[in-house]
Amino acid sequence: MSSLLKKIQELAEQQANANIDTRRHLHAHPELSFHEFKTQVYVESQLNKLGIPTQRIANTGVIAIIEGKNPTKKVVALRADMDALPIQETNDIPYKSQNPGVMHACGHDVHTSSLLGTARILQSVKDEFEGTIKLLFQPAEEKAPGGASIMIQEGALQNPSPAGILGQHVATNIPVGKVGFREGMYMASADELYLTVKGKGGHGAMPDQCIDPIVIASHIIIAMQQIISRNKNPRLPSVLSFGKFIAEGATNVIPNEVKIEGTFRAMDEEWRADGLAKMKKLAEGIAESMGGSCDFFVLKGYPFLKNNPELTRRMKEAAVEYMGADNVIDLDIWMAAEDFAFYTHHVDACFYRLGTRNDDKGIIHGVHTPNFNIDEKALHVGPGLMAWLAIQELSLA
Ligand SMILES: [Zn+2]
Ligand SMILES: [Zn+2]
Repeated sequence: MSSLLKKIQELAEQQANANIDTRRHLHAHPELSFHEFKTQVYVESQLNKLGIPTQRIANTGVIAIIEGKNPTKKVVALRADMDALPIQETNDIPYKSQNPGVMHACGHDVHTSSLLGTARILQSVKDEFEGTIKLLFQPAEEKAPGGASIMIQEGALQNPSPAGILGQHVATNIPVGKVGFREGMYMASADELYLTVKGKGGHGAMPDQCIDPIVIASHIIIAMQQIISRNKNPRLPSVLSFGKFIAEGATNVIPNEVKIEGTFRAMDEEWRADGLAKMKKLAEGIAESMGGSCDFFVLKGYPFLKNNPELTRRMKEAAVEYMGADNVIDLDIWMAAEDFAFYTHHVDACFYRLGTRNDDKGIIHGVHTPNFNIDEKALHVGPGLMAWLAIQELSLA
């Protein structure tokens, strides 16, 4: 196997500049979630040029199959997301976004170009591994209900069904040249909460004539934190934050209603459902007890992301072989959400992070910011590493 490892490393190095060009093309032409039309055509043409047939899915997604020897032995899926964000880029770079107000600010251009690079490597060594690789280029990671959920609904994990799925994401807190892994729970579910607290407005000098929705909403916000601190299993991380409180009264005007919006995050599907039910009951009960009412609406987001421990351990070991132990680190739990999580509830999964930070070059800005960028040396790492991980996993019975 070690000669194949060396071959993949050499191919990855030879192709790194081409992968960087691909990334720059995608970066300059970002498209919003569920609108990845040109990206889809581009991905298809790149794969077809390599002799890899493609199939459309989830409207703007692409699926492709690379068969090695003995293709029915085992199937491993590799996933990249392709969408950009509604952000105006402020970087002064030759490949700056040409689409006003749209930017690849979460690195999905990197994921897509990296997976195309992985495909190129796998296609050129397909006589040297057994099994089948399924490539999933999915739309709309950034927007509910998440492209991954639609990919699954439309059969992305069937015919053939993968035994495992791998995904990677850029990491602005990890130096370029390093990657990170975590077994078990890694990222959170995220549900959006929209509450409308209704009372009866009036003159601020005569609260007895009113039902003050501001006081009711304030009690609801404080009381809901008790659910996190008193009802949640302390061993499971969970977050409740409200970022919006709209009460359009005045110094002397009590409004009729208050709108509050927040996010609820969890690392356990049972607690997620239980916590939401308790919050609804509490909010409605408080409002009613104070003479008002509360409409409690939940926009369900992505589930929590669980990395299969055995698969992740194997992938970490394979990464150590590929990159050296110094370049493979352990990740902390992260309370952000990611729609790769949908796959992780259907099939053994490993979602790992690709370091893109470079303090010396000033590449330090977080994802979802207008000056986010990556050290493109990451594209010397990502494509070959994923090819190696996939082949290692296929090599197991
Ligand atoms: Zn993002
Ligand atoms: Zn992302």
